Amino acid sequence: MSPNVALIGLGNMGTPMSRRLVDAGSSVRGYDLVPEARERLRDGGGTPADTAPEAAREATAVILMLPNSDVVDAVADELLEAGAIGEGTLVVDMSSSEPARTRVLAERLADAGVAFADAPVSGGVRGAERGSLTIMLGARDADRERAHALLAPLGRVVDCGDVGAGHAIKALNNLLSATHLWATSEAIEAGRRFGLDPEVMLSVFNGSSGKSGSTENKWPNFILPETFDSGFGLRLMLKDMRIATNLAAQVGMPSRLGEDAVDLWAEAAEGLASDADHTRVAEWIAARASP
Ligand code: NAD
Repeated sequence: MSPNVALIGLGNMGTPMSRRLVDAGSSVRGYDLVPEARERLRDGGGTPADTAPEAAREATAVILMLPNSDVVDAVADELLEAGAIGEGTLVVDMSSSEPARTRVLAERLADAGVAFADAPVSGGVRGAERGSLTIMLGARDADRERAHALLAPLGRVVDCGDVGAGHAIKALNNLLSATHLWATSEAIEAGRRFGLDPEVMLSVFNGSSGKSGSTENKWPNFILPETFDSGFGLRLMLKDMRIATNLAAQVGMPSRLGEDAVDLWAEAAEGLASDADHTRVAEWIAARASP
């Protein structure tokens, strides 16, 4: 029998993920605050619900793909209070959430007999569409196999450790990614002003030690063509960077470079539209440099 999956949060990532799950044979019921997002679910073969508890009530697994830990906690409370999840349900938080809060949430759910795993992703909207996400799984041993089976249609599942491990690795990855993007954008703007061709620079960086996801993907696909449509919001990136620098400080390894990067990205976030794509920082950096 095909698994019954509830997917709460049908935004840039949740929508293509719901389609992958439907295509893999799951019956998907979903909920999002935004009515258009619920309609997109119907177009992709899923069934929209009017509330999160209604989406979750019949499900054996509930996937959360929400903006942050505040929303994840609120939705989990709503599901528990409505009795929509209980003994036998597996809740998987695929949002990029705060690892310390994830562990608290997992305990709270365990008290109600609900199993929990964190499984944040990287690979962006394209990865979600293609089922090629990297999925960072944090789970108790007893829940690991079930989580692997559920998540396999979405990408490559990497076992990261116990509950919270996935969210910790995800935040640290994005701190690196954001730092790379800022540094790459400064280097390319400096080279451009010296008279270098950005495409030639990228070609050299990609064959050299300056290579990163920014030189291989973000610059050639979203920044050089000036589409700025990676589908990952700048404010979501800044949230992840703060999760990572807080984690680093808590364990006694404060990230000096990371904290500077947070300040720089926060400045850009103040100057750009609230829904700006994160790749817009490149434009921001070029515009703010002296003429
Ligand atoms: P998004 O803003 O496009 O989608 C989030 C969705 O959650 C929105 O549609 C919103 O209406 C919905 N929502 C908010 N509160 C809700 C509630 N109480 N109940 C139901 N729905 C609610 O964000 P996204 O880009 O899809 O990202 C989702 C998560 O995945 C974030 O944690 C983000 O950091 C992470 N992430 C995003 C990307 C990316 O490339 N976009 C990549 C990796 C990880």
